[in-house]
Amino acid sequence: MVRERAHIMEEVRTERKGGSPVPSRILASNEVRARSFGSSGEFMQARELHVRLAKVSKAYDSHVVLADIDLEVRPGEFVVIVGRSGSGKSTLLNLIAGLDFPSSGEIQLLGQSLTELTEEQRAKLRCHSLGFVFQFFNLIPTLTVAENIRLPMALNGIAKNEAKSRTNTLLHDLAMAECGQRFPEELSGGEQQRIAIARAMAHRPAVVLADEPTGNLDLETARDVLELLDQTCRGQGTTLIMATHSREVIGLADRVLTIRDSHLQEAER
Ligand code: ADP
Ligand code: MG
Repeated sequence: MVRERAHIMEEVRTERKGGSPVPSRILASNEVRARSFGSSGEFMQARELHVRLAKVSKAYDSHVVLADIDLEVRPGEFVVIVGRSGSGKSTLLNLIAGLDFPSSGEIQLLGQSLTELTEEQRAKLRCHSLGFVFQFFNLIPTLTVAENIRLPMALNGIAKNEAKSRTNTLLHDLAMAECGQRFPEELSGGEQQRIAIARAMAHRPAVVLADEPTGNLDLETARDVLELLDQTCRGQGTTLIMATHSREVIGLADRVLTIRDSHLQEAER
């Protein structure tokens, strides 16, 4: 399954090379030719990993949430993280996104060590290379559906015509072609989450992080949304890391991990 995706990745990379306006440093990171930001300024050997955590621990004061976490995620993989409420799933995703910092250990996103980047470099990397899907959709209520989808593309400097055309294609693929000019509050929860998936994918990020994306949906809608997210990521060769309670997703994932007593381990399937 992963191998099939590697093939798709190659096509996506080829497409990304064509006229992308993003800074070459970040473009290179998406091609997994990661540049080290170490003091030597030398290019380091490319690492074929999208996410790498080495001996990562996270504590809030004396409360240890995550301990000694090692994790390697390859391009195009679909990794699910399960664990009871409060076990540290969101904390782990926030660390991977560089929105929070480990108490110890190292985290690399697309071969770049997050702690070695400046805040501005982390923000650029996040903006270009990550897509997010949240439990409560987090669409901007004052923007139309089409404007919500176009926003990350605008932030990445993608030309207006290209952004419009991608938005129309995504809306069509989601069977929501008629909804572009509507506002999020006029849509059902399932429809809002489909739009949030389109927004997360429109700028073709290397990695999508989804935090309980079906936590606010009924079972049937949840199933549709999971399939859509899985198919869209596979279609674009995107790495998907999802925290969820949903058992439905386990059959779709390449790997299922669980957080128990602050440790990350392979889950029984
Ligand atoms: P999950 O997503 O698995 O439900 P979280 O990652 O949200 O779990 O939280 C894990 C633990 O870390 C919880 O005990 C929570 O209270 C604690 N926690 C999360 N964020 C903070 C914070 N900013 N300050 C203090 N404690 C926090
Ligand atoms: Mg959470």
